[in-house]
Amino acid sequence: MTQTLNTELIINLAYIISAVLFVFGLKMLSSPVTARKGNLLSALGMLLAIVVTLINQIKLPWENIAAGLVIGSLIGAFAARKVQMTGMPELVALFNGFGGASSLLVGLVAAFSLGNSTFINVTIILSILIGGVTLTGSLVAYGKLSEKMPSKAIQFSGQQIFNGALISAILVSAVMFCIAPAVDSLWLYLVIGLSLLFGIMITIPIGGADMPVVIALLNSYSGLAACAAGFVLHNNLLIVSGSLVGASGLVLTNIMCKAMNRSLSNVLFSGFGAAKASTTKIEGEVKPISAGDAYLILEAAQNVAIIPGYGMAVAQAQHVVRELSDHLEANGCEVKFAIHPVAGRMPGHMNVLLAEANVPYDQLVEMDDINPRMGNMDVAIVIGANDVVNPAALNDESSPLYGMPVINVGAARTVFVLKRSMGSGFSGVENPLFFGDNTRMLFGDAKESISHIVAEFKS
Ligand code: NAP
Repeated sequence: MTQTLNTELIINLAYIISAVLFVFGLKMLSSPVTARKGNLLSALGMLLAIVVTLINQIKLPWENIAAGLVIGSLIGAFAARKVQMTGMPELVALFNGFGGASSLLVGLVAAFSLGNSTFINVTIILSILIGGVTLTGSLVAYGKLSEKMPSKAIQFSGQQIFNGALISAILVSAVMFCIAPAVDSLWLYLVIGLSLLFGIMITIPIGGADMPVVIALLNSYSGLAACAAGFVLHNNLLIVSGSLVGASGLVLTNIMCKAMNRSLSNVLFSGFGAAKASTTKIEGEVKPISAGDAYLILEAAQNVAIIPGYGMAVAQAQHVVRELSDHLEANGCEVKFAIHPVAGRMPGHMNVLLAEANVPYDQLVEMDDINPRMGNMDVAIVIGANDVVNPAALNDESSPLYGMPVINVGAARTVFVLKRSMGSGFSGVENPLFFGDNTRMLFGDAKESISHIVAEFKS
């Protein structure tokens, strides 16, 4: 008896230490300066949690656990090594989906053991339901982000009514299972099938530019599913860590909603982000510029804002961008990097790239802080960004981007846009900035174009 009490005490103490490590790790992730340490701290917490849980609750033979660990680690290491930085959001979407699948399986296995209390049956159904929605929702998000399926919104008439009926059917099936739980209960399999369908239904109507909100929300769902699985397994730490992921995912969703100027109810009840064609005619002409001429203007500049976007990640131009910034500063120019919260393809994408190139943190300025200062900039250099600098979001009510806050680069004296063509960005919307009086298009791969300018500075 005393022995059991002591073991339980040690296990719970280890779980508390893990939970504290998670909380501090999460807190440190909120700043690029401490993010790496935060990641390490959370990983340490997870290692402690896994070791303690395995020692305490091991029900399978060790060989099975070891085989699972080796296979999982090999797949994880392979995926992590192979994935390009630009492919990270898809990988994150897949990981969210796997998290959901695990919770669904935990719930399903627990449903097979009869004699559970009503409370546990409710948590089993929640684990299956949220896990199922997260699994298929994440797979659709993966398909859209990796362009394995069209990224534009898929809508049909009566979609809201269909979704409403689906929610009702899921609720009825869930209640029926909890009233009369049985392994061969049809209601159980209905909940599984309908929640998998619901995950697809809530993700397909979300298109193009709104995907950041979806990724953050699915991340939160995967946490909630894990939390429900924690109740099923009577595992306190899974409840705590699931709640942390669920809550931080919701905070991130809120930040993304603000960045996209969408309300959370818009997201939850879907049907937003549908691509509608802008009716405004774009006027003006495109004025290309060479890297040599761009250098001459930059050499005389006192204040420069660099606005990175997804194209910088594609070109892997972050290191030459840092070099360019160093040359400009050595020339007496003040350089700031203007960061839009949804630039790139995942939250913090630009911060990660610039940190990799050792760009000092004090050079990074958030959108709200740089916009009032944009009028003082001699040059704004837009590097592979498109949607996040599209002025249609500010002044074209017919644009699908209308209402989304953007970096107001048009206010700078001169704007250089570095991209390969006149093609549109992720949202598929045309950009009037490219036709602006003070805009010069520097066509080509961003890394090559900037390398040319850097070479001019060197010579
Ligand atoms: P964007 O609107 O997708 O535009 C990227 C631009 O980069 C393209 O117009 C492309 O033009 C250019 N480009 C691609 N490869 C290039 C290269 N090698 N060299 C130079 N340019 C290159 O990117 P953004 O302005 O960063 O906006 C992000 C978009 O993604 C938003 O719509 C956002 O909502 C969405 N999104 C964000 C997240 C997130 O969490 N951050 C997640 C999912 C989706 P060319 O083809 O002509 O070169």
